[in-house]
Amino acid sequence: MPDVVVVGGGPAGMATALAARRTGAQRVVLIEAGDDVGGQYWRHLPARRSDPDEGEWHHGWRRFLDLRAALLRDPGCEVVTNAHVWSVDRRDGRPPLVHALVGEADGQSRAARTFDPGALVLATGAHERTLPFPGWDLPGVYTAGAAQALAKGERVAVGRRVLVAGSGPFLLPAVAGLIRVGAQVVGVVEASGPARLAKGWGAKPWRLTATGGKAVELAGYLRVLAAHRVPCRLGAGVVAAHGADRVESVTVARLTPDWSPVPGTGRRVEVDAVCVSHGFVPRAELAIAAGCALGGGGAVEVDDRQRTSVPGVLTAGELTGIGGADLALAEGLVAGAVAAGGEPAPAALRRRTVLRGFATRIDAAHAVRPGWRSWVDDATVVCRCEDVTAGALRRAAETTGSRGLRSLKLTTRAGLGLCQGRTCGPAVEDLLTGVLDPGRTAHRPVAVPLRLGELADHGRTSNREDVP
Ligand SMILES: Cc1cc2nc3c(=O)[nH]c(=O)nc-3n(C[C@H](O)[C@H](O)[C@H](O)COP(=O)(O)OP(=O)(O)OC[C@H]3O[C@@H](n4cnc5c(N)ncnc54)[C@H](O)[C@@H]3O)c2cc1C
Repeated sequence: MPDVVVVGGGPAGMATALAARRTGAQRVVLIEAGDDVGGQYWRHLPARRSDPDEGEWHHGWRRFLDLRAALLRDPGCEVVTNAHVWSVDRRDGRPPLVHALVGEADGQSRAARTFDPGALVLATGAHERTLPFPGWDLPGVYTAGAAQALAKGERVAVGRRVLVAGSGPFLLPAVAGLIRVGAQVVGVVEASGPARLAKGWGAKPWRLTATGGKAVELAGYLRVLAAHRVPCRLGAGVVAAHGADRVESVTVARLTPDWSPVPGTGRRVEVDAVCVSHGFVPRAELAIAAGCALGGGGAVEVDDRQRTSVPGVLTAGELTGIGGADLALAEGLVAGAVAAGGEPAPAALRRRTVLRGFATRIDAAHAVRPGWRSWVDDATVVCRCEDVTAGALRRAAETTGSRGLRSLKLTTRAGLGLCQGRTCGPAVEDLLTGVLDPGRTAHRPVAVPLRLGELADHGRTSNREDVP
């Protein structure tokens, strides 16, 4: 039985596993869905196609190499990659059992493993949030995260003439990644206007210096923007994409402070790809399945020791709120020490406090505003997997009079497709504010896609190698 099981090998999970070992855990297991650790922040080319200049693509690459080397050479730490945790079973008075499938997701066979942890730390990160607009289902419309993942993980540019739009500091690394793989970025469009940005980022600016690397990182991106003459527009958004078979142009409009388009300000920009991102949503399905209480924005509620409402279950990183990789690392240090039964280092607690201030600024400056709903007309597709329009959703809610997500899903099929509502869920809830019970679209008893045969095998054999 492992002392500590960590799910997620991003910055938060890596820091957690190492801190748990350093605090005295005898056996730590780190489970990661990808073929290497690093998470979204340190996503990189696979070992068989490695790039000697990989370090130039990342901030803190040396730190990543050190963390990974420390994990891999530690005999008390088992790193299980290509392993998807698909469910957790709640138990009274003990942390839940953790069920994983190990092997290539699209391969012939995966091995089932079940872990019985002394303490469970969930560090599953976040999904990107993208607000729908007419034409966002055209080929050539990407999330900024997908464009960044293709740039960092494959060295592929999603287009030749690309506009980046949405809200939040993440737009900047996405622009830098696109430029690095040879795309011409014709503009970056931030939905929040100068007044809100000044209020969010400008409050007590001297505190920003304490975040150290973040200011340097930001300055680096601004230099890239200037060197490549990328025009930057504030208080504007992409409110429609146009094209026959794929995107050929987008309409960029000025937005009011609540993100409603200002009539008569729409301007067409020719592109062959557009990347949009409106922040992140914590990836909370395993935490919900474990019974953890959620707070604002779908983040898992934790105490000052990263403990959730479920005894023996802790969380770290973007699952507890969106704050970037440095905060994820600091939270991991705290969670790992506590999961191993020790006390977190005071330095880690101080760093976490400083970086949480950074997260508060992101929220104040960039959180989604309700006016986006006026970009969407009745014909706009909201659930792209199942082709469900905003009109169909509103009609179903009116006709059934139900507040339940289940009846909405069954009547419209929204959220029943491959993404299981990860992409459309927050938009559906937002469009039906006051109708639908909030937060329900994140409930998914099965956290990742699995084959029916794998589910049947689980029921039949329960290959619980780690269960006494
Ligand atoms: C698509 C995308 C791209 C991003 N790119 C950047 C960037 O370039 N620069 C930047 O500053 N920030 C980027 N971010 C934000 C960045 O993710 C965070 O700031 C940082 O990586 C958070 O660290 P974390 O450890 O909390 O989560 P993550 O780094 O997201 O790590 C979570 C890990 O958990 C794993 N996982 C999740 N569910 C399971 C499961 N069921 N079973 C097994 N493993 C699981 C995932 O594979 C992932 O590796 C990106 C975010 C996204 C969503």
